[in-house]
Amino acid sequence: MTTVPDSATPTAAELGLDAWRELPAAQQPNWPDRDALRAVAESLAGAPPLVVASEVDQLRERLGAVARGEAFLLQGGDCAETFTTSSQADIAGKVRVLLQMAVVLTYGASVPVVKLGRIAGQYAKPRSSDLDASGLPSYRGDMVNDLHGERTPDPQRILRAYSTAASTLNLLRAYAGGGLAALDRVHAWNTAFARSTETGYRYEKLAAEIDRAVRFMRACGVHDAALEGVELYAGHEALILDYERALTRIETDAAGRAAAYDLSGHFVWVGERTRQMDGAHLDFVSRIANPIGVKLGPTTTPEFAAELVERLDPHNTPGRLTLISRMSNSKVRDLLPAIVEKVSSTGHLVVWQCDPMHGNTEETADGVKTRHLDRIIDEVDGFFDVHAALGTHPGGLHVELTGDDVTECIGGTAELTAADLSRRYETACDPRLNIEQSLELAFRVAERLVA
Ligand code: PEP
Ligand code: MN
Repeated sequence: MTTVPDSATPTAAELGLDAWRELPAAQQPNWPDRDALRAVAESLAGAPPLVVASEVDQLRERLGAVARGEAFLLQGGDCAETFTTSSQADIAGKVRVLLQMAVVLTYGASVPVVKLGRIAGQYAKPRSSDLDASGLPSYRGDMVNDLHGERTPDPQRILRAYSTAASTLNLLRAYAGGGLAALDRVHAWNTAFARSTETGYRYEKLAAEIDRAVRFMRACGVHDAALEGVELYAGHEALILDYERALTRIETDAAGRAAAYDLSGHFVWVGERTRQMDGAHLDFVSRIANPIGVKLGPTTTPEFAAELVERLDPHNTPGRLTLISRMSNSKVRDLLPAIVEKVSSTGHLVVWQCDPMHGNTEETADGVKTRHLDRIIDEVDGFFDVHAALGTHPGGLHVELTGDDVTECIGGTAELTAADLSRRYETACDPRLNIEQSLELAFRVAERLVA
């Protein structure tokens, strides 16, 4: 991040916030009307930000604890949020499953868990091809075009993304602050569907133990804010740079230094397809003070990772940078060790996070995109094995999930097969874990964290 001493607030030009405009930007929509795009960006620049800088600073501190090995980062949500699947039920479902997973990890592994949604901004998708299977321009997320309708990019959709993010965050904050998130609601987070499953039953038993403990603490007169609510943060892929830039504000941080904050969310990451060293995305995130992530796929060299760390974390701030490996289960054990070793040799402390979803996408014989829970769990196991061997901290998990009983990923104790996929396949993009599969993964991660 570029910071400037106190005396005068620097300008956007001094902070280089628009330098990305001169660089190649991968995966940007071909907006047909640039004037309309400019008008949208101007209107967003004058709108209230979605989060505030102090929250962003607080998340960076929490992630600092993760980088030091004192906490675990749980990040999850839809592959692609849509405007129509941003109802109260959708949001509550995702919050509940995240809270359930977090409680499994906190209780099972006695480790503080930083909770971060892929939520309130995850409306833009990079695509490997410009055209989809039916020959139409690819769907690029609700911020850009319409999955079921017009595929020409429409900048007005950016404004709808902003307002959907605002209402999503509003509900998220209400849930986090109390009511739904209070620890004596652990049973209520388990839905009727989950209760009927083997893993849901396992969760019920754990919830009963927590319940007893919470009642005991209350009887002893303990009234701690940690029992009444949670800290819940929001993050998304920083893909559409016009949106991210328009919501970036220059603020004074806790140390009295002025810095740029991307206030579209607390955390943003750069995806596998946009992490070019000389590209627009890395330039943009290098100039904001938010905690940021970068996805690292199997083509990542150790040298690239080390250069990335020097570039994005020049002041060696634990929590500033999260490296999100998404290697596939078959490659993680071979490829990740050299990357971790090389980054460790730079002396920078990063958060190592495992995304076991994106390297393990496969197609069924019928051409349906799915993921097998066995491969997902195996990549997580490989990630833990690598960090155990190197003495580094397996800091976090990054998953695509939903609070619904969907059938998008196969495997798990319910033994979903390719034949089950058509029953409830609803994702706008990649296949997500359902509640039971999410919980199963959380139990597995908790076991690895204590081992
Ligand atoms: C994603 O997180 O949805 C995504 C597109 O991931 P990646 O950039 O790792 O392919
Ligand atoms: Mn995805």
